[in-house]
Amino acid sequence: MDREKYQELVSTFFEWNQPAISQIFSELLSAVAAERDLSPSGLMSQNYETARANPEINVLPGNLKNARDAIFPYFWGTDSWNNPLHLENVKGPANHASLIGALACLLKNPNLCTDRYSQRSNELEVKAVTTLANLIFYHTDDPWGVFTIGGTISNLYGAKIGLERVVPGAMRTGLMGHRVVGICSQASHYSNQTVAGWLGIGTENLIHIPTDEKLAMRIDLLEAKLDELYRSNIKVAYVCATFGTTDAFGIDDIQAIRELLVAKSKAYSVPMPQLHADAAVGWAMVMLTDYDTAKNPLRMEEGLLEIVREVQVKNKGLRYADSVTIDFHKLGRGHYPSSAFIVNRREDLKYLARTVSDTPYFSEADASRDPALFTLECSRPGLGPYSVIASLNGIGLTGWQMLTARALELTQRLKDRLAKIEYCKVLNADTRGVSVNWWVLPKGRNAEDIYQRLIRNELTPEQLSRYLPEVKQLYDKRTKMMDPTLDARLGFTTSFGYCPHGIDIPAWKAVFFNPKTTEEIVDRIAYGIEEL
Ligand SMILES: *Cc1c(COP(=O)(O)O)cnc(C)c1O
Repeated sequence: MDREKYQELVSTFFEWNQPAISQIFSELLSAVAAERDLSPSGLMSQNYETARANPEINVLPGNLKNARDAIFPYFWGTDSWNNPLHLENVKGPANHASLIGALACLLKNPNLCTDRYSQRSNELEVKAVTTLANLIFYHTDDPWGVFTIGGTISNLYGAKIGLERVVPGAMRTGLMGHRVVGICSQASHYSNQTVAGWLGIGTENLIHIPTDEKLAMRIDLLEAKLDELYRSNIKVAYVCATFGTTDAFGIDDIQAIRELLVAKSKAYSVPMPQLHADAAVGWAMVMLTDYDTAKNPLRMEEGLLEIVREVQVKNKGLRYADSVTIDFHKLGRGHYPSSAFIVNRREDLKYLARTVSDTPYFSEADASRDPALFTLECSRPGLGPYSVIASLNGIGLTGWQMLTARALELTQRLKDRLAKIEYCKVLNADTRGVSVNWWVLPKGRNAEDIYQRLIRNELTPEQLSRYLPEVKQLYDKRTKMMDPTLDARLGFTTSFGYCPHGIDIPAWKAVFFNPKTTEEIVDRIAYGIEEL
């Protein structure tokens, strides 16, 4: 082989040529900064046909600029969501402390499968998980956990522990004909279905308990369902409680669920199901747990303080969960993927160990730490721990309190504005979180009255099929008429989670993830609705 050419190749792609690399980084940075001048919808549309018709690989070795050019159009055509008009969904701009952490991680590229391939990056994962666990469970003794590639997979870990609790050895033997179910609420995230399907439980064996108006699982209906299941000798592997539903920020009463599970498993002499809390969105409320509302050092307004106090009460529920899902890439404004699966008691990970009957690996006090023995994934990115520790310490607890409280404040402002419009109805007025779900009906209708009649089941099928589609029609009308440089981009859900009498209720949706969103942007939403 031509040694000279080979050397050149190796030098271009494997030596650290700092000026060449920083030059390209700095060009990419300038390109992101230029997004400031674009409205969020002003980006290019995709061309999947061309993408399929033009698979691409250069023939000759190039340089770093070729690498840049190959991806640049797609990079440019991707919105970083830094624009404060983005309120559609649970996605925010990634914070720059996380950027530093994530870049550092990319430079070293650890594989968190075992100590050998990640050295101190594995230590960082332990530190990140323990820090998050202490925020969530509030100074717990022996937590543990791992970062996963998303909330779906973190929920899968919780469900899998439950499955092993009720069908010991299922990792080896499978379900062996046992009828096993999982339970979640009707407002829970669809990843619960993914999990039940992929675990072999089956989506049809995932039971959805209806919620009350605040999007919290109905405990009375859960109790009735548990009795019915246990009387038929059906195994309940897990209950996945939701701490912050994706659309409306409903929060299940985890303490009440735990008390019920303890009582029922005792009464029927069955193993306790895993009580997992899906806090993918809601976890960030724990940043406010220790905020001193009496001294109020951040000088929050009284209305906001009241919300913070309510949030503090809700946060206590998390302490009753066996395990929890945290998506740091959501309200942590971290880089994808930064999801963590955390158990309150480390010994529970024995259910995931490859040889459950052996002495659990994790009970050995100073055994080296090899997550690959219990993780679903083999190669695992280190982005999560780097993003989390850089973000938590760069921004600091007080910084996180400011970001979280500000999102709560803007949420409440929009709720208050909309409540004053009689043809609007805020559907999640009583949840404490960062999202608003609401109806807009044609002027002249009394939205509150229609809603009350809906939940009392007094609307005729004709009325339902007239009113409910109006919500979407007006949403589409706004989308057509809005000024993309001034009007916030909103989301729409076909069912916000509360389904009285089995009716799916559609809603407009705004989610406050962007720290740069202002009062003016919020007020313009209400103003725009009045102009429709
Ligand atoms: C987003 C979300 C998930 C799924 O998380 P991914 O990281 O997108 O896989 C699960 N549960 C809830 C409540 C969510 O909001």
